[in-house]
Amino acid sequence: MKFKPANNIQDLQYFGEFGGVNPSISDSSTYTFLSAKTMFDTFEGNTDGCYLYSRHSSPSNLYLSEALAAMEGTETANVSATGMGAITPTILQICEAGDHIVSSRTIYGGTYAFLKNFTPRMDIETSFVDITKISVVEAAITPKTKMIYCETVSNPLLEVADIKALSILAKKYNLQLVVDNTFSPLSISPAQLGADIVIHSLTKFINGSSDTMGGVICATTDFINSQKSVIDGASMLLGASMDSMRASSILKNLRTLHIRVKQHSKNANYLAKKFEADGLKTVYPGLKSHPSHEVFKSMMNEEYGFGGMLTIDTGSLEKANALMELMQERNLGYLAVSLGFYKTLFSAPGTSTSSEIPLEDQKEMGLTDGLIRFSIGLDNDIERTYQMMNACMKEIGIL
Ligand SMILES: *Cc1c(COP(=O)(O)O)cnc(C)c1O
Repeated sequence: MKFKPANNIQDLQYFGEFGGVNPSISDSSTYTFLSAKTMFDTFEGNTDGCYLYSRHSSPSNLYLSEALAAMEGTETANVSATGMGAITPTILQICEAGDHIVSSRTIYGGTYAFLKNFTPRMDIETSFVDITKISVVEAAITPKTKMIYCETVSNPLLEVADIKALSILAKKYNLQLVVDNTFSPLSISPAQLGADIVIHSLTKFINGSSDTMGGVICATTDFINSQKSVIDGASMLLGASMDSMRASSILKNLRTLHIRVKQHSKNANYLAKKFEADGLKTVYPGLKSHPSHEVFKSMMNEEYGFGGMLTIDTGSLEKANALMELMQERNLGYLAVSLGFYKTLFSAPGTSTSSEIPLEDQKEMGLTDGLIRFSIGLDNDIERTYQMMNACMKEIGIL
């Protein structure tokens, strides 16, 4: 049967304490035990359904975690305070001193900085490769490699990883395939294609209202338990746990994710086609001109489209900045980092979200000065939006 992520979320039911339609929020950091023996067993990880301390887990966090596990089709999941709070403990749980990682070179700036500048301190080395070239990925694998790391749709260049092919490679060399799926929730389900661990920054599309941060690791029960271990679990010990109030609000927003993703995709697809027809260098996985259009199509849950992210190249940083300022003035969106908001957001990644990446590396990966990354909003009348953006582009002299 075809995998239906939104149905899986919808089918999970948690009632509130008094039959409320939403589950009650667990407003406690610590929990009482009826007997000292149960407390000991819980510390040992042996008592299902017992809560210990909210850095470990809380009912509200479990509700959200289970809904996200249902969305990705993994055994379970564990939410965290931020996306980076999911990524860093996953890497540190799998790798130790002497280990090696093969990572896509086009990844979120924070993840790149962590792998490039931070983990070498612990003697964990990373090779950054073009993830779309499977033979290049394979050539980078050494006897010390423990993990292949990538984003389904990469930030900010929107390169698409062939998850099936990468998972075959990971299995061949006995590696963990870790996939950040932040840019393509619902559209692509990496665990169904063979990824071992799927991560999201909930801060983006999944929460969708730019009012909070959050992250999640979706994986096997064994892996999540190891991360939550009080003895040596990276999530438990590094401490980036989510607060219950936030878990509760993100779960409510998750209820409308399928509607939002469809609208983001519809609007982005419309604009990408128009921009390309106008002669702008446009990157969007839904365009036939996208080098990985067919790969995306082969992986996607069709009804959700190609996602809400697109880029255009304006030719220079000056033009990119002028266009973004004018679009903001005309209320077409906000000059802001992040994504997945109801309003269109735009930024020039070279000087913002990817500024951690050295200039020569930016050039090498095709991250140009004039690049603008758009997270297309939920505009009701996208044709009007297009007309207004087109007018801005003409005024700035891009068209
Ligand atoms: C934002 C983002 C992250 C980091 O998430 P935070 O919630 O900001 O910590 C990781 N990966 C991708 C692809 C992102 O866009």
